[in-house]
Amino acid sequence: MRRSRAFIPTSKEAPSDATLASHIYLARAGFISQVAAGLYNYMPLAKKVIKKIENVINEEMSRVGAQEVELSFVTPADLWAESGRIEKFGKELLRFKDRKENLFVLGPTHEEMMVDLVRNRVTSYKNLPLNLYQMKTKFRDEARPRFGLMRGREFIMKDGYSFHASTEDLDREFESMEQAYKTILTRLGLEYRVVEADSGAIGGSGSKELMVIADSGEDTIAICSKCEYGANIEAAKRSFNPNPPEAPEAEFNKFLTPDIKSIEDLADFLKIDAYYTIKCVAKRVVYEDESEIVLFFLRGCDNLQEVKAINATDALDIVDVTEEELKEIGIVPGFIGPLDQDKAKHVIDCELKNARNMVCGANEQDYHYVGVDMKVLEDVAYFAEIAEVNEGDTCPHCEGTLSFTKGIEVGHIFKLGTTYSEALKAEYLDENGKTQPFIMGTYGMGVSRLVASVIEQHHDEKGCIWTKETAPYSVNIMISNIKNEAQVALGESLYAQLQEKNVEVMLDDRKERFGFKMKDAELIGFPYTIIIGKELDNGAVQIYERKTQEKQTVAVDSVFDTLMELL
Ligand code: ATP
Ligand code: MG
Repeated sequence: MRRSRAFIPTSKEAPSDATLASHIYLARAGFISQVAAGLYNYMPLAKKVIKKIENVINEEMSRVGAQEVELSFVTPADLWAESGRIEKFGKELLRFKDRKENLFVLGPTHEEMMVDLVRNRVTSYKNLPLNLYQMKTKFRDEARPRFGLMRGREFIMKDGYSFHASTEDLDREFESMEQAYKTILTRLGLEYRVVEADSGAIGGSGSKELMVIADSGEDTIAICSKCEYGANIEAAKRSFNPNPPEAPEAEFNKFLTPDIKSIEDLADFLKIDAYYTIKCVAKRVVYEDESEIVLFFLRGCDNLQEVKAINATDALDIVDVTEEELKEIGIVPGFIGPLDQDKAKHVIDCELKNARNMVCGANEQDYHYVGVDMKVLEDVAYFAEIAEVNEGDTCPHCEGTLSFTKGIEVGHIFKLGTTYSEALKAEYLDENGKTQPFIMGTYGMGVSRLVASVIEQHHDEKGCIWTKETAPYSVNIMISNIKNEAQVALGESLYAQLQEKNVEVMLDDRKERFGFKMKDAELIGFPYTIIIGKELDNGAVQIYERKTQEKQTVAVDSVFDTLMELL
């Protein structure tokens, strides 16, 4: 491509709402332009990067036997009603009616559509397993679209779905997909980690996320210092504290604690470790058509993990409550405890199941109980895992400690089981001629989010630094002075030679100052720029590597070979 003809509107101005490097540079370097919140146009450079990423994905998918299809973006709402997700997805689903008053939904993910495609077409175990995927625009009316391509409302996803006749075969496919996803991210030049993820309301065992490691990531992941364990904080587990602080032994008793409402004050007042206190986090739990106040009890030193709390209550969402709302139903804020608590439903963290020597609110103004043995609640209360792991906690698999790091979720693989096939009555005949629902897996990868992720991990103060497999052009030929005939001639000849070898090459033939053109090249992030300048008089040019910002001088006759080696 000749730069003089290219549509690459670079700019010094970053979008006013941009905070992430990827958002700033992709906009400034002329890759993307915003249309409305969470909606972007892809300009030629972005389109090229997207195609490259899609090619890598396609190659790895065909290697593991997955087949590409493309399903309609507009999906009938009936299918969403059949699966029951029309409610669950809530406002993220963009719904509309056609001229015949039929209700449709813009596809935010395609489980229903894929099951519908396969049901009644694959009818025998002999035709299983089957893995179908697509590269497809998705629409989710995200509450807070932000960070450019990272969290758009319209975005591109590679979504795949597999169908099996046994859970063992699903396990095999799941592993094969995990491996393929890892290969894809490695090829794209990304540092990543595979972590255990929340399985959400669907439940099931296998749910893993592929996280690109980046400080700007929206997800917090807990990783073990010793073993391979890593998990999204929403799902992270820990071992029981192997070295708990010394226990405050006391007889069970009601104790006057005037105006002592916070865990901190309580621990100070009684001179005990917060580990032995029980904190209450009151929330309003929102279901499909109703909501109620639920009290979550956990150790004073722990925090409520909201996704775990949502799973424990089978809720759609949980929101804050005010003290007034609590008082209205007879609850005493600041002194709430799990004993004799009948004013609201409650959930107790499973780590408190056998806890002894605890201190908790007495559900009475200015009083706490001390010496509480939680065993008394063992058979009557509802225990679930609701506490968030803390940095320094012990790994659930070994004696290593957990630390936190930030990640960008670029992929999510999930064992669905028969949830969708049962809901949508998608069945096959097994070896004994019996009808069975398909056992399914689903595998998503955020293609447009990957574009942004590459830049989050690979940029500097000058702009983008594309990796080998993602660069829109591998080589940029810079003719420093367009009036110099020898420079132009060499530029044109290298341009032709490289094109001949199928190298994606840009020829900067613009009548602009060298400094301006160089800044532009650095902003865009071509991996290599051949600088044809004054040194040509001595028969030499320079090869500039974007990543290291180093220039090497090479003789004109060896520049082609040197470059081919570098590539
Ligand atoms: P997130 O937690 O980031 O909202 P998700 O868990 O809702 O994502 P999935 O339903 O698992 O996303 O979708 C599969 C993949 O699609 C994600 O791993 C992510 O890479 C990508 N993706 C999801 N939502 C968006 C979005 N709004 N913009 C860009 N990519 C997205
Ligand atoms: Mg996900």
